[in-house]
Amino acid sequence: VPILMYHYIAVPPPRADAVRRDLSVSPENFAVQLRYLREGGYHSITLRDLVLHLQTGYPLPEKPVILTFDDGYIDAYTQAYPLLQQYGFTATFFLITGFIDSGNPEYVTWGQVREMSAAGMEMEAHSLSHPDLTGRSVDYLVWQIVGCKEAIEAHTGKTVRFFNYPSGRYDRQVIAVLTSADFWGAVTTESGITHSSQHLFQLKRIRVHAAESLATFVKNLTQQVDETEKQRSGY
Ligand SMILES: [Zn+2]
Repeated sequence: VPILMYHYIAVPPPRADAVRRDLSVSPENFAVQLRYLREGGYHSITLRDLVLHLQTGYPLPEKPVILTFDDGYIDAYTQAYPLLQQYGFTATFFLITGFIDSGNPEYVTWGQVREMSAAGMEMEAHSLSHPDLTGRSVDYLVWQIVGCKEAIEAHTGKTVRFFNYPSGRYDRQVIAVLTSADFWGAVTTESGITHSSQHLFQLKRIRVHAAESLATFVKNLTQQVDETEKQRSGY
């Protein structure tokens, strides 16, 4: 199951650095990708669906895909959300709750989070302030991870079950805190589409790059589907 990883759905500002530019898929390109997914018969599923499938054999639709958005930038609400609704897809948004609490205008507001959650979008945890979580004390990890989880739950009324490691960095202690806090899994920045119930805290994703053509997007996705079908048929 391909888990697509997006950051900004926006045209980057004129003086943006190379990283910001690479993380920014334009709304036009994103719409083209969504149209391709819809016309190609893809169905968006949630991370919950994936875990239930891996653990209990819960059935998935044909051509399942998971769309994820990191960091909760304001364009998640102004650009990604309306396009997702227009094309009939749901997605998972990973929020940095300290930035929302402080009213940083570059990020979504709690009102926007509630609206998207009520419309069926998954709101999951990405820490309080996006630090490197490796080599930290348990107290610090609980503060960053459980604090974030509880803030989202308080605002949406829905249980948070998934975590996204800030900058993709994690260690055994981070995973131990996640499991003790009743998380079901976590996504990484590692590349791949093959998932197993033994590695729910190391879910791999496919990064969508700013400059990539639809042909590249399709090529990645088509390879992924071939692998998914191999998995299904027992290879
Ligand atoms: Zn992030």
